[in-house]
Amino acid sequence: MANRIFRAVVLGPPGSGKGTISARIAQSFGLQHLSSGDFVRENISASTEAGILAKTYIDKDLLVPDCVMTCLLLPRLEQMTRHSWVLDGFPRTLAQATALNDTCSLDVVISLNIPLETLKERLRHRWIHPASGRVYNMEFNPPQVHGMDDISREPLVQRDEDKPEALVARLRHYKDIAKPVIDLYRSKGILHSFSGTETNKIWPYINSLITGKIPEVQGASQTLPLHSQEQ
Ligand code: AMP
Repeated sequence: MANRIFRAVVLGPPGSGKGTISARIAQSFGLQHLSSGDFVRENISASTEAGILAKTYIDKDLLVPDCVMTCLLLPRLEQMTRHSWVLDGFPRTLAQATALNDTCSLDVVISLNIPLETLKERLRHRWIHPASGRVYNMEFNPPQVHGMDDISREPLVQRDEDKPEALVARLRHYKDIAKPVIDLYRSKGILHSFSGTETNKIWPYINSLITGKIPEVQGASQTLPLHSQEQ
């Protein structure tokens, strides 16, 4: 792994478990976990120009425009040419996928296909801490104190976009914009789709896919120092 860079993207609708799967990949294989949502929140906290602009869209439960997202993310990826990473939350649109393609080459794209009923059920119980993006599920992963973030102790909120009335439209919108992205990666021969209702049951398949792609990282702990946090 020391002389082999590995890059993966995880695609999936809201509630599909992309964040959880990406974190497991990062931990198991010693890759950096990059999340576009985290980049956006960092920029909002730092009041950068892009962050201020992005916030006006997030406040309206809209996707941040492609040009803002690519300006935020691609320079960061360009700084990481010597690092292996797994990226979640980006690309969400074909324009973003094309821009990413111009910046770096990907080894694997994982697409999570989760049944609609499962997504609805997960999002119904999802509460978040807006400032950090920490996500809780009131059924499976509740906070220590009801309604409060474990670390900051600030109140959790349910995003309007996660509420049942907004969900179906949001999932349909996701499908429409994700389809050309998925088609692009399929045509490149790097798309791997996984279906199921439980992250824990999907994980072994993803684990063996990546182990097969980078067998030399088996025993991830040996590689971790090579992928220490950027900056
Ligand atoms: P997330 O934590 O992935 O749910 O991202 C939080 C919010 O940031 C999303 O609801 C979007 O408004 C915005 N965002 C994150 N990634 C992207 C992206 N690739 N394209 C557009 N907007 C994004």
